[in-house]
Amino acid sequence: MKPWAVLVNPSSGRGRGGAMAARITQALRESGIEFQYFETEKSGDATNITGAFPLGGYDRLLVVGGDGTINEVVKGLRDLTLPLALFPAGTGNDAARLLGIRDEITALKTALQGVPRKIDLGWASGDHFVNIYSFGLDASIATQANRWKHLLPGWILYPAALVKTIFSFQPPRVSYTLTTPTGEIIHRQETILLMAICNGSHYGGGMQINPAANPRDGVLELCVVRKMPRWKILLLFPTVYKGTHVSFQEVTIEKITAMSFQAEKPGLLNRDGETWPGIEAAIKVVPEGLTVLCPVSEGISTTTVSKETGGM
Ligand SMILES: [Mg+2]
Repeated sequence: MKPWAVLVNPSSGRGRGGAMAARITQALRESGIEFQYFETEKSGDATNITGAFPLGGYDRLLVVGGDGTINEVVKGLRDLTLPLALFPAGTGNDAARLLGIRDEITALKTALQGVPRKIDLGWASGDHFVNIYSFGLDASIATQANRWKHLLPGWILYPAALVKTIFSFQPPRVSYTLTTPTGEIIHRQETILLMAICNGSHYGGGMQINPAANPRDGVLELCVVRKMPRWKILLLFPTVYKGTHVSFQEVTIEKITAMSFQAEKPGLLNRDGETWPGIEAAIKVVPEGLTVLCPVSEGISTTTVSKETGGM
């Protein structure tokens, strides 16, 4: 039997990753499982480590970290059929949440006995994403949240970053073209607060930006939030946690297989919590692009699985 790989970001979740990894590796030793242990020290390490994995060298990969670590792993891995087991050790654990994994015990059980299933990935301008790719206000908020994440607890981090950000944010005018699941191509030009292209339903530590998103249906969901007054943004924000923001007239959600956009001025892009300045992107869905271990009892929580036979 092939060894397992365990990749740990010890500083994820302000040190939670390191403590969690110690318990996990002890459990693996007690179960007599042979594994190789890897630890990241700085940003980019998870991409370099997994990029150097021998093809077919491991039975599965346990990732102990947050969304940022998983983002780096998916960028690095050359073999995306290697089953991943996710441990929610980060500040944001939206990728683990996508699989119904919310705590360490469930994560460990899933790593040991979980069911491998295929989920879709997104592809954006040269790299994969697991959960979300976005442009606009939310990326600016995520950037501010990243700056403050060692100072503030998770529950207050995003609301605080939002309040700080909305007073300086200037909504950009954006041209975009999307492809619907039936192959129709639609072009629009609008002034937006943000556009989020979602594989999963949650981001930013629990916001349901796209309540109906399903990572197994072979399509991505495009959420566009158009320009609105600041007082209305403050009203909208709490509703995103419940997913009821979709009732605002400025918000639309539609299924797409691909899209591209170009803004009239630079803003911030966000890929699974990693942000950087940019002005344009081209995005498409990669159906069944990633293999993940899911809890035996729960699996991916969704009511609209249309590709039930697509799993493993
Ligand atoms: Mg989908």
